[in-house]
Amino acid sequence: MVSPVESLGYGIYCIDARYINPGVACCYLMVEGDEVAIIETGTAYTAVAIAEALADLNLPADTVRYIIPTHVHLDHAGGAGVLIQRYSGAKLVIHPRGARHMIDPSKLIAGTKAVYGEKKFAELYGEPLPVPEARVIVAEDGDVLDLGGRPLEIRHTPGHAEHHFCVWDRQSRGWFTGDTFGISYRELIFGDKRFIIPTTSPVQFDPDKLLGSIGLMMGKCPQRMYLTHYSVLEQPENVAKLLCEQVEAYRQIALSLKNVPDRQRMILGKIKEMTLALIKTMQPQTDLQVMREVLALDFQLNAQGLDVWLSRQ
Ligand SMILES: [Zn+2]
Repeated sequence: MVSPVESLGYGIYCIDARYINPGVACCYLMVEGDEVAIIETGTAYTAVAIAEALADLNLPADTVRYIIPTHVHLDHAGGAGVLIQRYSGAKLVIHPRGARHMIDPSKLIAGTKAVYGEKKFAELYGEPLPVPEARVIVAEDGDVLDLGGRPLEIRHTPGHAEHHFCVWDRQSRGWFTGDTFGISYRELIFGDKRFIIPTTSPVQFDPDKLLGSIGLMMGKCPQRMYLTHYSVLEQPENVAKLLCEQVEAYRQIALSLKNVPDRQRMILGKIKEMTLALIKTMQPQTDLQVMREVLALDFQLNAQGLDVWLSRQ
């Protein structure tokens, strides 16, 4: 059972996005003075959870100043239009390459339907609404937002997607990482160790850019990462190393299978095998069948993304 609002300190709260299953995706509230930022929106279905969280914290609707999806994939930005409608004083902050997809989400919707199909799309994402252009702030690399006097620095972090940025919060010494710093569900926490996997989902994965973006984030000597998948990860140095090693291994696996028939399925098999071996090394008593299930969708998406990347080479 995931609690509806989890306080992480520093005025930061984690809310489950109710995407696929509890614990798969989250969004964050940041409260400073009488201003609120919503970082990540979840899907069009997540707005209910956000409204409940604001009510729980006694924060009226007019305190919401910024809505900040890290990139325009629909588990991160699919709720933007609904939230903009609900919180009339708020502005949407978005990467320059994502802005037009928020103003007119039709391409985004069509692209996602192509991956998931009509029925699954409706079930997972609901109806993403357009955001009026006048409500959009296009965030350039290095821009700093002011939330009740608290600076939030936007840094462009391509690699998972070209339209991705991350948000640096000096106060918590933490990054809101979206998908750039990989995926680490709570099932991947083993005592004081934590496993992580990269996310290379279609269609813009670029290993060099991803490694560069992870390096940029680690350059701030962060104390913690606020992952969208899932929640806060403390002391990220060792995890960053594990993540970068896997990005490199993914690249090698993909390149080694470039010319084999049935390439995507072969890549899937290899990355699965590698990941499960790494988990087994970290935590020998792990039930690998459980891990296979927890990571099944991510393995699929990662294999697809690597296949698309190879096609671009
Ligand atoms: Zn994404």
